[in-house]
Amino acid sequence: MKPMGPVPPWFAAEENMLLIGGCGAASLVDEAGDTPLFVYDIDIVAAQVRRLRDAMPPALSIHYAIKANAFAPLLERMVPLVDGFDIASGGELGYALNAGMAPDRISFAGPGKRDDELTAAISAGITLNLESEGEADRALAIAARLGKTPRLAVRVNPDFDLRGSGMRMGGGAKPFGVDADRAAALARRVIDAGADWRGWHIFAGSQALDPMALIETQAATIDLAARLSDDVGASPPLVNLGGGFGIAYFPGDERLDIRPIGVALDDALEKRADILKSSEFALELGRWLVGEAGVYLTRVIDVKQSQGETFVVVDGGLHHQLAASGNFGTVVRRNYPIAIANRFGREPSDEPVSVVGCLCTPLDRLGDKVALPPVKVGDLVAIFLAGAYGASASPAAFLGHPPPRELLVG
Ligand SMILES: *Cc1c(COP(=O)(O)O)cnc(C)c1O
Repeated sequence: MKPMGPVPPWFAAEENMLLIGGCGAASLVDEAGDTPLFVYDIDIVAAQVRRLRDAMPPALSIHYAIKANAFAPLLERMVPLVDGFDIASGGELGYALNAGMAPDRISFAGPGKRDDELTAAISAGITLNLESEGEADRALAIAARLGKTPRLAVRVNPDFDLRGSGMRMGGGAKPFGVDADRAAALARRVIDAGADWRGWHIFAGSQALDPMALIETQAATIDLAARLSDDVGASPPLVNLGGGFGIAYFPGDERLDIRPIGVALDDALEKRADILKSSEFALELGRWLVGEAGVYLTRVIDVKQSQGETFVVVDGGLHHQLAASGNFGTVVRRNYPIAIANRFGREPSDEPVSVVGCLCTPLDRLGDKVALPPVKVGDLVAIFLAGAYGASASPAAFLGHPPPRELLVG
C-alpha cells in the first residue's frame, strides 16, 4: 500500500456519490456526455480568491496566470474575480481578450515571443514582460512600425531562488528574463525609446508550500525592485512579485497557510523604499487559484490481475492528466488523491490496486498501489487537484485518443 495525497476537505458525497459543485459525479458525466471529464467548480475558485484577498494587503492586485487552466467558461467567470490575466503566448492573448479581460490588465511573459505575437500584443495594448534585450529591440521596432506606444515591463531573472520551489524559475543562468545586473539598463533603454515603461516582473519559482520561503522571496523581490528602480531613476508603475503558492498534492503535504505571508507582505510594503511608494504591487498565481477546484473523472474499463497485483484500467490517462502520472515536473512519482466517485466514503479494501490509464506505456499510472473500495468495471474514478495543469498541460494528441471533456459548475 502506498499513501496518497489529501482529498481537499470540502468534498462530500450523497449516498456515496461524490458531489462536485453540489452535483453528483455520475450526473455530471451524463450532462457532459461521457468520460473522461474535467469538472471545475467556480465557487471553489471564488472562495480561494476571497481567502487570498482577506489575507493579503488590501491594495495588492491579484493576477491569474491562465496557462494553469484556460477553459473559456472558467476564464469568463474569472474576469470579475481577479485584477488581471497573465498570458504566455499569442494563443492565450486570444483567450484572455475573448473572455473579456481589459487589455490594460493583461501582461504577456514568456521567452521566444514571435514577431506576430509581439505585433498582436502591441496592437491590443497589453503589457509585454520583456524577456531579453533582443526582444525589446523587436518590440520597439514593431511598435514604431505600428505607430503605437508599447507598454513594456522588464522581466528580471532575480539573483535568488524561491526555496523549496517545485519548479525553479529564477537564480542562476535562466532562459527567463534579463539578469538582475542588466535589468535597469534595459528599463532605461525602453524609457529613452519613448515606450510606456510598466515596471518589473520578478518571478522566482512555483509550487512552494513553506510560508517562510515565500515571505523571504517576496521581501527580496521588493528590495530588488527598489534597487533596480533607483538605478533607473524612475518609479515603476507596477511591481509584479510573481507567485509560487503551492497546493498540497502529495502524502505529507500540508496546505499552505497564506495568513503569515499576508502579514509579512503588509509589513514589507509598509517599509518599502520611497521610490516604490506610488507603485502598484501584484501577485500572479495559477495553480493555487484553480488547482483544487478541478476533478478529473474517468471510467473503469477493466479490472485485471498480474502476478498478484490488481490493475484498474480507466478510459483516461496521462494524455489528459500528465501531472498525476508523475511526469510533469516531479522528481519522484507520488500519488495524487484518488477516489471511486460512486463509492465515495466507503471503506477501502485491504488489497491495494494500481490505477492505470489507457495509454500503451508504463508511464501511464495514475495511482500506484492505492487503497480504494472494491472496484468494478463501470465505476467512476475521481482524481482530485486536477484544476491546474491538467487539460492545459497534457499531451492530448499522444496515441490518438479523444480530448477530455470539460465542464464548469457553480
Ligand atoms: C507558470 C507561471 C505562473 C503560474 O505559476 P503557478 O505555479 O501556476 O502559480 C506565474 N507566472 C509566470 C511567469 C509563470 O511562468
